[in-house]
Amino acid sequence: MEYAVQVTKKKIKNMIIRITREGEVKVSVPYGVPSARVSDFIKSKEQWIERNLEKVLRGTQNRPRDFENGDRIRILGKNYRLQIIISRDSRIELFPDEEEPLALLYVPMYNDAGTRRVILYNWLKDKLISLLYELNKKYGTLTGYLPREVRVREMKSLWGSCNVRERKITYNFHLIEKPLEAIEYVVLHEISHMPYPDHQTGFWEFVSKYMPDWRARKRLLGEERRETP
Ligand SMILES: [Zn+2]
Repeated sequence: MEYAVQVTKKKIKNMIIRITREGEVKVSVPYGVPSARVSDFIKSKEQWIERNLEKVLRGTQNRPRDFENGDRIRILGKNYRLQIIISRDSRIELFPDEEEPLALLYVPMYNDAGTRRVILYNWLKDKLISLLYELNKKYGTLTGYLPREVRVREMKSLWGSCNVRERKITYNFHLIEKPLEAIEYVVLHEISHMPYPDHQTGFWEFVSKYMPDWRARKRLLGEERRETP
């Protein structure tokens, strides 16, 4: 990993290192500290820098984007190249089996990044909701624990959360980026909280019973968000 470190001298007692939201590495150093000690300090923080820089860079990829021709969007574990087409109706068409999967985004003549984002967001949300309805019905029927309500919203740190008392499950909008196998795991996980509210042995036995390969599926989710409270 390549990165530059900005060193600033300040009236402080100890050396401080931080990473900005834009992914800049900044070190503040008290006056009079020899440069060799500064480089030693930076070197000792190398692992920490790389780990956190990666997190920040991954985060910026999730920030609102412009969605222009050639941009990449991730849907159900596949990377699609976006192609904008001016059209009277707004919709999306996916070609997942092309050598390079293609997403056609039909937008009105007068559109900006905001318009494109809303069209995409609504379409992806609808797609995710119908998929989740289907999966909750499947695993709810299988386990005997059908949720009463299934919702989708954007969440920072959770893949899903289950209100056990009301049998209501909320899923993270960003699940739409993950492969189907991983989404299935999150659905079964949340459903399993109805009989087992916490992550005790009984819980994992229950999950394993209906999905013996849940560990591999969980790995597909990546590390960015937790799968559940
Ligand atoms: Zn859980």
